[in-house]
Amino acid sequence: MPSYTAPTKDLQFVLHDVLKTSESSIPGYSDLDRDFTAAVLEEAGKITSEVLAPLNVVGDKEGCTLENGVVRVPTGFKEAFDQVREGGWTGLDMPEEFGGQNMPYVLGTAVGEMFSASNQAFTMYQGLTHGAASAILAHGTQEQKETYLPNMVSCEWTGTMNLTEPHCGTDLGMMRTKAEPQDDGSYKVSGQKIFISAGEHEMSDNIIHLVLAKIPGGPEGIKGVSLFIVPKFIVNDDGTVGARNGVSCGAIEEKMGIHGNSTCVMNYDEATGYLLGDMHKGMRAMFTMMNEARIGVGMQGLSAADAAYQNAVIYANDRLQGRAVTGAENPEGPADPLIVHPDIRRSLMDQKSFIEAARAFILWSSQLIDQAHRAEDADADGLISLMTPVVKGFLTDEGYDMTVKAQQIFGGHGYIEEHGMSQFTRDARIAMIYEGANGVQALDLVGRKLAQDGGKHVMAFFALVKDFCSENKDVEGMEDFVEPLKVASKHLQTAGMFFMQNGMKDPNAALSGSNDFMHMMGHVCLGLMWGRMAKASLEALANGTSDAAFHETKLATGRYYMARRLPATAMHLARIETGAETVMALAADQF
Ligand SMILES: Cc1cc2nc3c(=O)[nH]c(=O)nc-3n(C[C@H](O)[C@H](O)[C@H](O)COP(=O)(O)OP(=O)(O)OC[C@H]3O[C@@H](n4cnc5c(N)ncnc54)[C@H](O)[C@@H]3O)c2cc1C
Repeated sequence: MPSYTAPTKDLQFVLHDVLKTSESSIPGYSDLDRDFTAAVLEEAGKITSEVLAPLNVVGDKEGCTLENGVVRVPTGFKEAFDQVREGGWTGLDMPEEFGGQNMPYVLGTAVGEMFSASNQAFTMYQGLTHGAASAILAHGTQEQKETYLPNMVSCEWTGTMNLTEPHCGTDLGMMRTKAEPQDDGSYKVSGQKIFISAGEHEMSDNIIHLVLAKIPGGPEGIKGVSLFIVPKFIVNDDGTVGARNGVSCGAIEEKMGIHGNSTCVMNYDEATGYLLGDMHKGMRAMFTMMNEARIGVGMQGLSAADAAYQNAVIYANDRLQGRAVTGAENPEGPADPLIVHPDIRRSLMDQKSFIEAARAFILWSSQLIDQAHRAEDADADGLISLMTPVVKGFLTDEGYDMTVKAQQIFGGHGYIEEHGMSQFTRDARIAMIYEGANGVQALDLVGRKLAQDGGKHVMAFFALVKDFCSENKDVEGMEDFVEPLKVASKHLQTAGMFFMQNGMKDPNAALSGSNDFMHMMGHVCLGLMWGRMAKASLEALANGTSDAAFHETKLATGRYYMARRLPATAMHLARIETGAETVMALAADQF
């Protein structure tokens, strides 16, 4: 069975040495001193490695079952969910007013990485609840907040998001679910939603579904979509759980991975619903949830990569195959361990250098969210809006690739189920699809985000990279980081310029390169993260740190990324500059 060790030391390094959280002026950050975050991360590390990780394989093998309308979760999930609730993990970054602990989002993310790495399918039950609660917090009336949030923050009630219908996933303007207004101000919601994660299960007393639907007579397409709160059980005036609502699970999907999470067909049959936010502004309200959810899904890419990598390292040290080309390293044994081989090293370095930079990228993104929300910083809001498709698309594409690389290190033993390596690839695969498939993330980045507010946010990003390079160009030891970052950033700017010059007259020219651009920007972001981490490690070494080995390892890993992964930007640029001609050369019937 695979094991999982919580990366608390590395998380601490990013939080304190790189992001310097406790020195930040963001409200609430002064509480995040080293001792405090160490205590929180240690506790989270315990529950994730001791309780959730052992249940990961159980969830994969047993899956969820539907019996007479009731969805049963895998053995041990219910008890583990109780433990998670009792530990207060579900409301870490939620307001105290509703029973949360009001910690910054960045700490919630650091904890979330470990939860997701140890058991992605399990963690989704609380992750979706968090997203639904955030939407109610942002758009609900005071009465709605008081009715739903305390029980959602504690996860006594869980939440879901219902967008997808059989005929529409990306193009939600085509949705058919209807909401008929009633005299008492409520609505009767009818229609079918599919693929609804955590749609039905037995782990909570109520399930609060957030459902997108159209009010008859409203504008056509996406502009006519509104968001509704549709509880599984109607909540009585005194806050207790009342009558069953007209919502039921019609089926659960058979699927490739995340078997421990129930993916449900949800039928709404004149179910009582309550408008959340403004009429016909449902997408806006849902986006509150989706931006946060997209960062969370990007994190799943990182988490899956780390869980798989940790097991690949153990295997590469244990498995004896062949001899090192430079002479035997284990002369007493029948062969050397896999880790002596350069090609195995390359793969492990790809994984390690991605994981550590992705961790910094996710935490930096979360810090931007805190800065936007807690400090009401509009520039941070613009920057995170630009970054969100990159976090989601790049980290899940790469995260999936890393789980395949980890599986490859096991050879045939990775393909069979015994070592649990195939579960990581199967679970990681969905993150590239849900919360907006990655192709659509790239489209969002190039088609919308680059030009948002007159290109202000992408210019701010370029300036940030440029300033970092200028500030550090003469710092000893930084040359391995600054020069490659400058080159990669130049590639990114050139690609942006290509889109500006060609996108208007031929939109296909821009969109044929959107996936490349998203990956290019992802690499530049991780390159920047490596630059920042290198700076922190060089400073620690100069100050005579007692943990020189940690910082030397960090620098060597970063140099690998800058030398071997970051140059991918040149290839992406070359592809982008060919435009749409070869991409669109065939007619549909030539395929
Ligand atoms: C396990 C699982 C859990 C899920 N959980 C939820 C959930 O909790 N709630 C929920 O509402 N939904 C959920 N989904 C649905 C998921 O979000 C959708 O499957 C996803 O958004 C894609 O929609 P689709 O499947 O209809 O694909 P389509 O929209 O048909 O897209 C198919 C492909 O075409 C591409 N594409 C589509 N339009 C364009 C375009 N304009 N330009 C370029 N490419 C395009 C897409 O990138 C994709 O690769 C889940 C799905 C699964 C499998």
